[in-house]
Amino acid sequence: KRLGKARYAVYTTDMGARVATSFRLAQDLPLAAAHGELSMLYQPIVDLNSGHIVGWEALMRWRHPQQGWISPVTFIPLAEQNDLILKLGRFALTESLAQATTWSNQPSASSPPYIAINLSARHFHDPGLVPMVQEALKAYDFPPERLVIEITESVALFDVDSAERVINRLDRLGTTLSLDDFGTGYSSLSYLAKLHPKIIKIDRSFVSPPTKGPYLQRTLEAIISLCQALKIHAIAEGIETASQLGELRSLGCEFGQGFLFSSAVSASEIDDTQASVLRNWERAVSAITTAA
Ligand code: C2E
Ligand code: MG
Ligand code: MG
Ligand code: MG
Repeated sequence: KRLGKARYAVYTTDMGARVATSFRLAQDLPLAAAHGELSMLYQPIVDLNSGHIVGWEALMRWRHPQQGWISPVTFIPLAEQNDLILKLGRFALTESLAQATTWSNQPSASSPPYIAINLSARHFHDPGLVPMVQEALKAYDFPPERLVIEITESVALFDVDSAERVINRLDRLGTTLSLDDFGTGYSSLSYLAKLHPKIIKIDRSFVSPPTKGPYLQRTLEAIISLCQALKIHAIAEGIETASQLGELRSLGCEFGQGFLFSSAVSASEIDDTQASVLRNWERAVSAITTAA
């Protein structure tokens, strides 16, 4: 009230516009794949002790004909409201495997990089998931051990027992389960015992928070210790600075990804990115050593 009536009007108009945009996007999304508006970018996952790329995370992008680039933070939740998310998952899987089969290995790395795709909780309640993965692996002759499935937790697993059965079947196919955004939202401790992920991705709110107090710091340390105790590989998300890299290395975190190394790139940029990631890692490590 103190701000006056005009303020109130501005606020409602803005809200109204946002709802209208989101409604429009939700209407357009079902045809986005058919119109060739969806694509995948890939962000390297790096061994923090060698600078070598161990895997690539596939991240979806939508280029809307009128609105331009739309972030998955906006359109994935719209797709999650119905079965459209299952179609987007199929697109992410097949597109990534089709592109990944042609990638060469970084010469210095010991094994070929894996590809990590993001699947929403809804997939793990879908009887079609296991056959879909099986068919895609076969169609692209892709080794199952090089496919990592990240379970992204924007919605809760509503039936953990049925998800557990699906995950066990994926495990028998030879794929690897990774728990995304660990420490936030629905990504909880109770899932560890049920789903036994081989990988945990530590949410970037613990790695590069706007302000870092001792509480966040100790939580980060505790998550890394938890991973070590349970023999789960830890990947730190959102590494942006050399000092964050230094700290993670000293805490014994094995892997990480973030803008310090590279943002997500298109398939055609993969080869160049391998070289630049190593350079960025070397520069950061020498900065840490000089500072110490
Ligand atoms: P995510 O799976 O946790 O992916 C990491 C996000 O953090 C990506 O955003 C990535 O670009 C961003 N990021 C990476 N390094 C840094 C950094 O150093 N600093 C900062 N500030 N951000 C960094 P993106 O691509 O916008 O994706 C956002 C989220 O959308 C993903 O979070 C994931 O939950 C979802 N998503 C993306 N692609 C897909 C998909 O194909 N399927 C599903 N179901 N979800 C997807
Ligand atoms: Mg992810
Ligand atoms: Mg994540
Ligand atoms: Mg995250």
